[in-house]
Amino acid sequence: MRNVIMMHSVGSNHTLWKERWLSVDKEQFEVFCRYLSKHGYKTYFLDYWYEQENVSVKDKKDLYLTFDDGYLDNLLVAYPIMKKYGIKGTIFVNPEFVDPSSGIRTLEGNKGETLGFLNWDEIRFLDKSGVMDIQSHSMSHNFYFRSDNMIDVHTPEDKYHWLAWYNKPERKHVWQLEDQSIYTPYGTPVFEYYRALGLRRYFPDERVVDKSITLYNEGKSKEDIIAACIELLKTYPGRFETDEEKELRFRYELFDSKRILEEKLDKRVDFLCWPGGGYDEMSLQLAEEAGYKASTIASREGRLLVNNIGLKYKRIVRMGMDSTIRKGRYFRPLRIVPSHYKGHLSFMLKIEERRPIALFLAKVNNLFLRFF
Ligand SMILES: [Zn+2]
Repeated sequence: MRNVIMMHSVGSNHTLWKERWLSVDKEQFEVFCRYLSKHGYKTYFLDYWYEQENVSVKDKKDLYLTFDDGYLDNLLVAYPIMKKYGIKGTIFVNPEFVDPSSGIRTLEGNKGETLGFLNWDEIRFLDKSGVMDIQSHSMSHNFYFRSDNMIDVHTPEDKYHWLAWYNKPERKHVWQLEDQSIYTPYGTPVFEYYRALGLRRYFPDERVVDKSITLYNEGKSKEDIIAACIELLKTYPGRFETDEEKELRFRYELFDSKRILEEKLDKRVDFLCWPGGGYDEMSLQLAEEAGYKASTIASREGRLLVNNIGLKYKRIVRMGMDSTIRKGRYFRPLRIVPSHYKGHLSFMLKIEERRPIALFLAKVNNLFLRFF
């Protein structure tokens, strides 16, 4: 039974944040929590999920809510609603994104602003609250280049916000709130990229990077810049991360995040959520070695990889609810209806606009849309 639900942010409609599609609507979130509480759903932390993995007959009303990334709105918006309805959830945190402030912020004190990330005091408060459990989302949540295939040139219009994450890591916690394009020179070449824990890094040669920036400043077109860089790559191919460097980096992501969270929270951290579902054979093996009992799984190819590691290691299959309970421009969810499709728990949202009426069925990370 697939009964672990994935969400990220709750209640943010801030236009500054380019990724606000990751936020579910506050009222719909409350509708959802009220529904769960009224209809006898029971929510637990992941240690109970882990125990239940060895139980053959599971309660169909057992549910696990998970929130990725550690957004401040998990405290300011989601927490009070969940507390009100007796709902529990798990937050996966990246230590590199933790806000450096101290004390526990309130909605009023923060002038209604909910964008940003949790600080350590808040993380500790939530973890002790009995409402939220904190687990690991690795250290960096970064994207990196994974090949010498140059695909783009950084310009003011693009969405490579993550370039700033490793150029200016100390500003990661406010990346939603400020224009961080200044931290990466325009004209910087962009190569094929992927998630930190699923790749061997590619490092372009400085001379190729400089050339790209210079040509951009001279007003050359993207096509011309890319063509010139491809030519220069023949002389200065750059280099790939060695096995040792890659393992060291993965150890930092997996072991250090676990250790830091355990020290800050004075408890064991057993569960890992892969940022963006990115992992490979090496990171999976290291996750097991680090002592995680289970991690999330994502893509189909990722599922195949997971089969190669120890039997004791468990896989957390989640269904994405972000887009299901987000109130968009075109739809307005009215009613949440659970259904059991092929043994998997699903939630249907009856959605009504002027016309047509659509029914969304969220199931195992897929959204099926039917109009009738
Ligand atoms: Zn994430």
